Amino acid sequence: MARKFFSKLKCRECGRTYPAQALHVCEFDFGPLEADYDYEAIGSVLTRKLIESRSDSMWRYRELLPIEGDPTVGKQVGFTPLVKADRLAKAIGVKACYVKNDTVNHPTLSFKDRVVAVALSRARELIQGGGVCLDGKFSKLGGSECGQCGPRKLGADSGGLGAKQSAEQYCLRNECGGN
Ligand SMILES: [Zn+2]
Repeated sequence: MARKFFSKLKCRECGRTYPAQALHVCEFDFGPLEADYDYEAIGSVLTRKLIESRSDSMWRYRELLPIEGDPTVGKQVGFTPLVKADRLAKAIGVKACYVKNDTVNHPTLSFKDRVVAVALSRARELIQGGGVCLDGKFSKLGGSECGQCGPRKLGADSGGLGAKQSAEQYCLRNECGGN
């Protein structure tokens, strides 16, 4: 079901907007492009009751995530527990403190599972029958997210941020149906 809560990208530096396509940097000042949401539209449909009625994953907040359709990768990601940290609360002088335990996140026990699941779901929307390149630790996470298809080596250095690892391409062709 298509939703219209996310329809453009916005430069963090100058505020220029761009279509919600595979772009990442502003052509005027090289500022990063971020998802721009229609919060008024979101506020008209998204309620606490609706969120609580959904499955226990980060996708229960999908109107606030930069995809247009339903998620196709990492459907189980998120909804990690909050752990009460009384000693930490006392040390920093607050009444109560909770720590988000993302070491039990799925599938790789990392907070990065969240961003990879969103990135791959969005890539599938943008690149029909195509692929996406992830480098470094993200490539391993990507492989886990699409483990049934497995990584496909491109055989070239990614060149990103000095990374020496080879870039890996992951199947986004729905051959494995997501997870
Ligand atoms: Zn800009």
